[in-house]
Amino acid sequence: MHIKTDGLVIKEQNTGESDRLITILTRNNGLIRAFVRGAKNIKSKNLSSTQLLCYSNFTFYKKKESYIVDSAEPIEVFFDLRNDIEKLSLALYFAQVAGELSPQDDEAQDFLRLLLNSLHLLCNEKRNPLIIKSAFELRILSNAGYMPDLLACCECGEFESDMMYFDVQSGLLSCFECRGNENSQRLSKGVVSAMRYIIYSEPEKIFDFSLSKSGGKELSDICEKYLITQTQRSYKTLDFYYSVYGEKI
Ligand SMILES: [Zn+2]
Repeated sequence: MHIKTDGLVIKEQNTGESDRLITILTRNNGLIRAFVRGAKNIKSKNLSSTQLLCYSNFTFYKKKESYIVDSAEPIEVFFDLRNDIEKLSLALYFAQVAGELSPQDDEAQDFLRLLLNSLHLLCNEKRNPLIIKSAFELRILSNAGYMPDLLACCECGEFESDMMYFDVQSGLLSCFECRGNENSQRLSKGVVSAMRYIIYSEPEKIFDFSLSKSGGKELSDICEKYLITQTQRSYKTLDFYYSVYGEKI
């Protein structure tokens, strides 16, 4: 049985003499792990299109329990990411998070679109990388079933106050008067608005908001904490990003 779908390579591992095992976030089938035969052979026609962070049209076939890449035609190789270690490290973090949160054996259109849009924005430098990172984190969590409830204060229903509190454990918002609990972090009004925008707007618009520099750092901090709390794990790619980017914010 052959499967045809487009997808982005989010992980690669060498296995044995000349094969590689890659993980692809595909549009139609979610995460697929597949072998690339003869990948170290320079003549392999599938080599560039099966590299990490390459977006390609794939055909797979199944042999026993394994998927094998039959053909792969590159659509976008994100060349500009590979020339900039900060962007590349952030892209690898996005890929790792996508591998953690995307579905298997199910369509994953929203996940793939989010990841591709994030990589495109990293390449074209029109948005601050921290804004791209924050929007990616919060939106992929929402896609995966961890959408926070940011409609209003969870206790009194107040929509907005100058400062609000967000609980990274429960994903609930509290107003200044209600204050939340010991897990809650104080957020400025602009950051709460940005978080609402990221989770409630159309997929192609989620990066279209502006924040001050300090607001951007506040947003990045809360989105990252929320992701790490909800997924209950650490990310080596994120540690690497901070080792390149500088001090953790
Ligand atoms: Zn309240």
